[in-house]
Amino acid sequence: MTEHVRVRFAPSPTGALHIGGGHTALFNWLWARHTGGTFVLRIEDTDRQRSTVEYEKTIMSGMQWLGLDWDEGPDRGGDFGPYRQSERLEMYRTHAELLLSEGCAYRDGEAVIFRVPQGKTISFDDAVYGNITMQSETYKDIVLLKSDGFPTYNFAAVVDDYTMDITWVIRGEDHIMNTPKQILLYDAFGWRLPRFAHLPMILGTDKKKLSKRHGATSVYEYRDLGFLPDGVFNFLALLGWNPGDEREVFDRKEAVSLFELSRVTKKAAVFDMNKCHHINQEHLKRCSPETLFELVSPFWKELGLPVESHSRAFLEKALVLMGGRGQTTRELAEYSDYFLSFAPVISRYTASDLDPGKRALLDDFFRKLLVLDVWNVSSMEEMTRRWVEANGVKMKDVAMAFRWILTGRKVSPGIFEVAELLGRDEVAKRLAHYGFPGA
Ligand code: GLU
Repeated sequence: MTEHVRVRFAPSPTGALHIGGGHTALFNWLWARHTGGTFVLRIEDTDRQRSTVEYEKTIMSGMQWLGLDWDEGPDRGGDFGPYRQSERLEMYRTHAELLLSEGCAYRDGEAVIFRVPQGKTISFDDAVYGNITMQSETYKDIVLLKSDGFPTYNFAAVVDDYTMDITWVIRGEDHIMNTPKQILLYDAFGWRLPRFAHLPMILGTDKKKLSKRHGATSVYEYRDLGFLPDGVFNFLALLGWNPGDEREVFDRKEAVSLFELSRVTKKAAVFDMNKCHHINQEHLKRCSPETLFELVSPFWKELGLPVESHSRAFLEKALVLMGGRGQTTRELAEYSDYFLSFAPVISRYTASDLDPGKRALLDDFFRKLLVLDVWNVSSMEEMTRRWVEANGVKMKDVAMAFRWILTGRKVSPGIFEVAELLGRDEVAKRLAHYGFPGA
């Protein structure tokens, strides 16, 4: 019979969900979902000064945004609760007393302290780091309960992991040195050990420990920058793991089916913002126009663009035309601003590059363009082809001028596609602003 996997994510609610925490949560979630196990959320709020209910909520909504749902937790309950350490004080007290009565711990005032046995070799097989062996002499006696009756992290984590029936402890490598201490406690209780998997450190591209300097650190900042949950999910999954083939872009379902703890590397993972952008863009390309519209609209509004003045169908067509431009929804909103309003075009482009010679030529072109029988891409292309041939100019010179006038940008989707969607009247209006066709 295969064991039922139970993993936990155990954040301290002393800040928002950061990249490191999101990464740990994600790997636990993947392992639970891959094995058909249970994912537990445990709130480690024993730091009374720094823990807040607000942070607890932000962490939960950050996990929800990433799509990491938990099966047991403070808000959902479960058979192993309570799931907040501050609600389990009685449990820690009785367990501390057990160790006191067996002579494994002693009191120092109100505090309870574990006596680290001498001459003991502590050894465990980490699923990522391999065998780790420490001598017990390395460690000083371990505080179990502080004088205020609150447990320390190492003690509470052991009592909880055991009593919550956790089979795999998956957490950041910064906890490797805590693990032998925790094993001493398991041994003192006579408890079986869970298995351990420590996740690699995450570094910036300068190989320094990830910090604010490397960019956004909280999961929410990514949302606000216009990253997709699927993009961030995919990017985080690639920090210290890969699916075993060349594929870099995958969805949740693929990740769940391919995930293996045995493929997690101990080599520090490099957090490369360019890669994060690239992966996000690939996920953006996979979105339907309807989804894109929902995602981009808030950013259009933030830019002060009149979303409500256009039909949804028009805006969805504009997003389709954008054809994968933009690495984030925020960028996509910016890059497509000219579909919603002429104002940003005017602010970017003054037509100062058009000398009288160029103007005279373009004037003839725009005059003929505006009176086409049919206003669509093929009729515009057809007319333009004939016109450039007759006038001995290059297609791209005409198209470039037209692009600046309609979009105020050097790059855009095919300019006749843009012109068709904007419609003849809007195009005439924009041309007129720049003095075309002249009187
Ligand atoms: N509360 C600890 C932390 O946030 C949990 C570590 C663990 O997973 O054991 O680092």
